[in-house]
Amino acid sequence: MRSSVLIHPGELSPKWIDRLSSCGISALGIHPEGGSRAAESLDRLLDGLRAPAFRALLDTAAAKGLEIEYELHAAGWLLERGLFDAHPEYFRMNAAGERTPDRNLCVSCPDALQRLATRAAGLARQLYRSGSRFYFWMDDDRDAACHCPACRQYSPSEQQLLAVNAMLSEIRKGIPDAQLAYLAYFGCVEPPRRVRPAPGVFLEYAPFEKYVSANDPGRAGLIRQEAERIPELLACFGSSGAKVLEYWYDNSLFSDWKKPPRRFTPQGEVVRREVRQYRAMGFETISTFGCYLGADYEALYGEPDLTDFAAAVAGR
Ligand SMILES: [Zn+2]
Repeated sequence: MRSSVLIHPGELSPKWIDRLSSCGISALGIHPEGGSRAAESLDRLLDGLRAPAFRALLDTAAAKGLEIEYELHAAGWLLERGLFDAHPEYFRMNAAGERTPDRNLCVSCPDALQRLATRAAGLARQLYRSGSRFYFWMDDDRDAACHCPACRQYSPSEQQLLAVNAMLSEIRKGIPDAQLAYLAYFGCVEPPRRVRPAPGVFLEYAPFEKYVSANDPGRAGLIRQEAERIPELLACFGSSGAKVLEYWYDNSLFSDWKKPPRRFTPQGEVVRREVRQYRAMGFETISTFGCYLGADYEALYGEPDLTDFAAAVAGR
């Protein structure tokens, strides 16, 4: 089955490229840091993609047979927050009824949706050596939907899908075989019902609650719901291209997103068991974050070990 590992662009190195290609991973996922500064980290990535040294690394990865993908929290870059003063109607209404540029957008505002889509098409063209699968995720938070009177009828999942459909339609004008991920994450694990995925939209399932709410008994229901929604999500989006994005090797999560990285011990048995489960459900691609395992990690603790992941996705 297809597999990929997502790492921060600043951690990409010849070592990482060798590690992925030598153990048979299909794709290298470039993932700039998310959170409230996602737009700045995407700008830094785009600067890097114009720099010969970084392009040479990506050339090496491609020469070794790795597909290149970019997985980005992109909403704040696609619809620039600085537009708020001139166009508050582009932005979401929070639960208190106030327009705010803090996250995402108002998907019922045609100009906002068009700007998002046009910039998404421009972004797709800037992603050096990218394959035709794109990942332009919405903002990284639980409460990030628009509550305006027009958007209120749509769930967070439906709002995301309206944005994804609009972006893909624009991207496909230049890249006809483009595909775009719907990220089933936080509240968006609830399958969309009033909005249907356009052709080329594929499911990307990221079970983040399982990790961030693991020690919170009050959120056990959210973790259960996250797992239980998988069959409905696959029914809605189809298994074709469906992808899991796991956190098995996400040492940024286990380091609480603070450097220096902590020592990381892969949970090999868990990885193997869960890969088998995802495969049986019908997912075609299995990915994991592999952040905070760069040169600084190696200097402290030595080479990270991807053996269990590589073996599990190879069916060994
Ligand atoms: Zn709205």
